[in-house]
Amino acid sequence: MNRLATSVAVTGAGVLAAHALPAVTFWPQLRGRLLPSLAGHGDPGHVALTFDDGPHPRSTPFFLRELDNRGIKATFFLLGSELARAPQLGREMAAAGHEIALHGWAHRRMLWYGPRRTYDEMARAKDLISAATGCPPRWFRPPYGVLTSSAIVAARRLELTPVLWSCWGWDWSAKSTPTSVYDTVLSGLRGGGTVLLHDSDVAASVGAWRSTLGALPRLLDECTRRGLTVGPLGEHHVVGVAGVAGRKALRRKPNLPPRAGEAAGLAERLAVAAG
Ligand SMILES: [Zn+2]
Repeated sequence: MNRLATSVAVTGAGVLAAHALPAVTFWPQLRGRLLPSLAGHGDPGHVALTFDDGPHPRSTPFFLRELDNRGIKATFFLLGSELARAPQLGREMAAAGHEIALHGWAHRRMLWYGPRRTYDEMARAKDLISAATGCPPRWFRPPYGVLTSSAIVAARRLELTPVLWSCWGWDWSAKSTPTSVYDTVLSGLRGGGTVLLHDSDVAASVGAWRSTLGALPRLLDECTRRGLTVGPLGEHHVVGVAGVAGRKALRRKPNLPPRAGEAAGLAERLAVAAG
């Protein structure tokens, strides 16, 4: 390989690594150790209850009713594409006191998106959430938990704080049952943790949300038994978030995609700051 070809190959590998590296944050154990704020670690006496993939008229109202009966508020990470079909439901969720956050526009892995598409889709979903609920979202969780460098840059520009989860219910599977969801969450449930569940099946097996709904009362009971308060991320005091959220958004024109080195630099700084 001549010098030019070597240089091109090394540069290409570097760009790919810089883009894909944050995807390793998908793995909960690694994330919890290296990036506690991204894992949603917060107040040890509190558990953040979060739901992804809604809103959906077929399933979400059941969750709202159950939470209302318990007097519990949660954080719902909405998809713009779903909210566009059910804006009134989004309004009702916010009016009921739940925290509305951003999951993306469509439920696709952002790993293959370029910076422009990443920013545009996140901005579009944020605008819709703001318009529908009257409140701009504060948190961002990418579909499948795959957080790319472009998404980190876009989140900063949109004044969104990325947060994933510390335990989940594996509740998207066709094999899930209320008991399996309950047992899976409990295997990772700790005070200060962030629980990931789903209030719709738009990216899951048809009807999988019923297992989640069936597990919810027992999960809430178990948190009570352990003396843990359950609530939204906004009341969770996520470790280190003040420093991340408090930074001023980038002041360049919002419609411009990030410069070539910006994504890699930000990803690196985030990892260093969190480590
Ligand atoms: Zn999702």
